[in-house]
Amino acid sequence: MLSWGLPQTERGGVDNKVLINLLAEIAVLEESLVAAEHTLSHHASRGRDLRDLQAEYEEDAALAQAGDQNANVRLRGKENEIRATETALTLKRDQTIGVSDRRQYQALQREISGLEQKLITLEDEAMALLATVEAAEDGRDVAESDRVQQESKGQAEIDRMQGETTAASEARDQLAADLQRLISMLPEANRRHVQRLRQNGGPAVVQVQSGACGGCFEQLPAQQGIDADKGRSLVRCAGCARYVVHRPWR
Ligand SMILES: [Zn+2]
Repeated sequence: MLSWGLPQTERGGVDNKVLINLLAEIAVLEESLVAAEHTLSHHASRGRDLRDLQAEYEEDAALAQAGDQNANVRLRGKENEIRATETALTLKRDQTIGVSDRRQYQALQREISGLEQKLITLEDEAMALLATVEAAEDGRDVAESDRVQQESKGQAEIDRMQGETTAASEARDQLAADLQRLISMLPEANRRHVQRLRQNGGPAVVQVQSGACGGCFEQLPAQQGIDADKGRSLVRCAGCARYVVHRPWR
């Protein structure tokens, strides 16, 4: 008739001490289960943060790389302009050799002087661009080194968390199974109460902590606090309706 198989009192009820001890074991399992679930949720959210962080470093590195390429393209363009101007200048100087007309000669000289002036300006601009390229290269190197550093640091943390996540996940499954087994051993009324509380999330059975409920931290009436601590009677918190029990005696 009775399926949970706990020792019975003469009146046919489950021995109170046995029931309280069983609830005390349930409290321990529930506490460990909460810890395992906390580890899993913390690692999942930290993993997301690390991936976001890595994406930011990669974006920075890509931008710095693009900035460096852009500066190099502008410098190459300037160098091409310089070469074209030098070629034009050589051409004009060559042309002066065969010129006998004075005005034609002066016109060529003005062109030469204009090109020389242009060359000076272009060379100044090229020097400024060279400084820009060097700064962009430094920026690119720093961003790339930051990216690589963060990648290896982040990966080390992800690897470490992966091990902990696997352990916590296995522990959670084992704890949940053990918990179901112990809950199924409870007398029906207690079992229903435990199941209802667990549906609301969080533990149904908590340990007494300095005379207070370990679930909602409300102070228990003094006698109830002592009874819960000594395992003398089954105590339920008036604040959160959880069972309040002692630490298992082992
Ligand atoms: Zn409470």
